[in-house]
Amino acid sequence: MYTRILLKLSGEQLAGKFDGGIDTEFCQWLAGEIRQVQQAGAEVVIMVGGGNYARGAQLAGGGIKRVTADHIGMLATMMNSLALTDVFEEEGLPTRCLTTIFANQVAEPFVHRLANKHLENGRIVIVGGGSGRPYVTTDTAALILALELDCGVVMKATKVDGVYDKDPNEHDDAQKMDEMSYERAVTDGAIKVMDNAAMGMAMEHKLPIIIFDALKPGNILQAAKGVPVGTKIS
Ligand code: UDP
Repeated sequence: MYTRILLKLSGEQLAGKFDGGIDTEFCQWLAGEIRQVQQAGAEVVIMVGGGNYARGAQLAGGGIKRVTADHIGMLATMMNSLALTDVFEEEGLPTRCLTTIFANQVAEPFVHRLANKHLENGRIVIVGGGSGRPYVTTDTAALILALELDCGVVMKATKVDGVYDKDPNEHDDAQKMDEMSYERAVTDGAIKVMDNAAMGMAMEHKLPIIIFDALKPGNILQAAKGVPVGTKIS
């Protein structure tokens, strides 16, 4: 069992059955899954993406600067964090939303000691704003956060059940890999699970990454227990 885990959720996952916005039913279900992880003894940090509202790289252009587009993306992650925090609390899961961008009226600032304190006091910590800096995604922000908070693993939730040697949607003979090296994740062009900035950080600091289907009931708990699910990159 990992004692502290970082779960990375994309905006698309939070949108659930909708094309955009937030699927509160999915968030309620997720609260139940996270509760199991907490009851099993792990502290849980969640980094949320914002792709259900905005992605900087797509938004930039037509007069919108890349930095501004990324700011908009960061605000999108904030919206998700706030909503998820409310749903978790409504479901009886003590949760705090911390933000890496200045938004004192809206959420507590991300302060290392404060985040640790919340986790030690049995609260789920949801971080909005990514890293607070442009030109990176929440995958990279998740890696930084996991290192900063001494998480034993980064669990990245995806639509598929792991990493395949080629795109399973296009190739019938695509093989799922249970384990993969950081080197392969960075160098194999057919494998795109996380951006290289994130993977490079994981490799440098030997922080394992699990790519898995978080929508399968019990899977988050299994992964937190160290039971092989999805693909482990180490
Ligand atoms: N973003 C950023 N810095 C960060 C994290 C996110 O600038 O540290 C911006 C970036 O524009 C990104 C957007 O926020 O595209 C939303 O995050 P992401 O694309 O990672 O969301 P996901 O695809 O996981 O839903």
